Amino acid sequence: MTSSSSPTSASQLGALQDEVQALRMQLARVTAERDRLLHDQRAGGAPIEKPSLGADAHVAARLERALAQGDLQLHYQPELDLVADRVFAYEALCRWNDAELGAVGPDTFIRVAEETGQIVRVGRMVLAQVLRDLSDLRHGPEAAELRVAINFSMQELSQPDFESWFIETVTNTPGQPFNHLEIEITESVFQRMDAEIRALLMRLQARGIRVAMDDFGTGYSSLARLHMLPFDKIKLDKQFVRTLNDPLVHEIVRALAQLAQKFGKVLVAEGVETQLDRDRLRDAGCTCVQGYLVARPAPLAQWVVAKPS
Ligand code: C2E
Ligand code: MG
Ligand code: MG
Repeated sequence: MTSSSSPTSASQLGALQDEVQALRMQLARVTAERDRLLHDQRAGGAPIEKPSLGADAHVAARLERALAQGDLQLHYQPELDLVADRVFAYEALCRWNDAELGAVGPDTFIRVAEETGQIVRVGRMVLAQVLRDLSDLRHGPEAAELRVAINFSMQELSQPDFESWFIETVTNTPGQPFNHLEIEITESVFQRMDAEIRALLMRLQARGIRVAMDDFGTGYSSLARLHMLPFDKIKLDKQFVRTLNDPLVHEIVRALAQLAQKFGKVLVAEGVETQLDRDRLRDAGCTCVQGYLVARPAPLAQWVVAKPS
């Protein structure tokens, strides 16, 4: 996935960007229409309930306990290069099984943790655990290139000591594995990012850390600004994969794959569940995938091969 060596004129690139922008606007319209239809379909059914403040406070209290007792765990999900047939990264995904609440999904507890500020401690636990697990995940011919990706929220990046904590923690780890780490930040955070956080990400990139734009397609990134943002990798949101049978979406993914290649970025499709998804993505030029088709997120033990004694 390196930058193409074939020369591309600025006008060709400009035309391609305009085309992608037009296609994305059409996609936004199609998605809005689909959502409207789904909403109409559900009308009359039970309203979707927003969690109450009381419920969130209880989750926050239980999370406090889980953080103190070290009850949060990590699962890892591989990302596969279909051409090389090689796993090139694992994404660390936080899991919480509470004695009273049962399994609480990240969509709930990460949101609560962001609201309460507990997310900072979640992130500290995640980095520490990833650094402990890294050598077990890096094995075989993939070891030299393999990355482990960690999701970070805006609140974490905005901590005054985020950079010093991160650098110090990795520096104090044997092998100082900056080249094996990746930071995932959702597209919407990139849009809200100020110059200070952009500069922070660039300093981390200079150390060898890779930055991924997560859930691409869920925000409204201006293509005109995209080149100014510090990222090395784009993770296509699952909504693209779900709608790939639409020729328009197929063309958008094709154009994005071309743009990614021209700019030397890695493009990975998330939420790839079926062989049909995989084949359609490959047809569109997107050859790196993550999803249940390859493997579900699973504890470290699933990814560790028995080492010779
Ligand atoms: P994400 O970073 O976009 O992670 C991908 C999500 O898609 C994960 O959900 C994963 O389990 C799910 N997924 C993977 N393959 C498939 C598939 O083929 N089909 C479907 N339908 N889903 C698939 P999960 O684990 O529930 O995490 C949800 C979100 O919570 C993550 O989205 C991420 O934004 C956030 N998150 C998870 N762990 C952490 C963390 O440690 N820190 C922070 N700040 N956020 C986290
Ligand atoms: Mg992610
Ligand atoms: Mg994602």
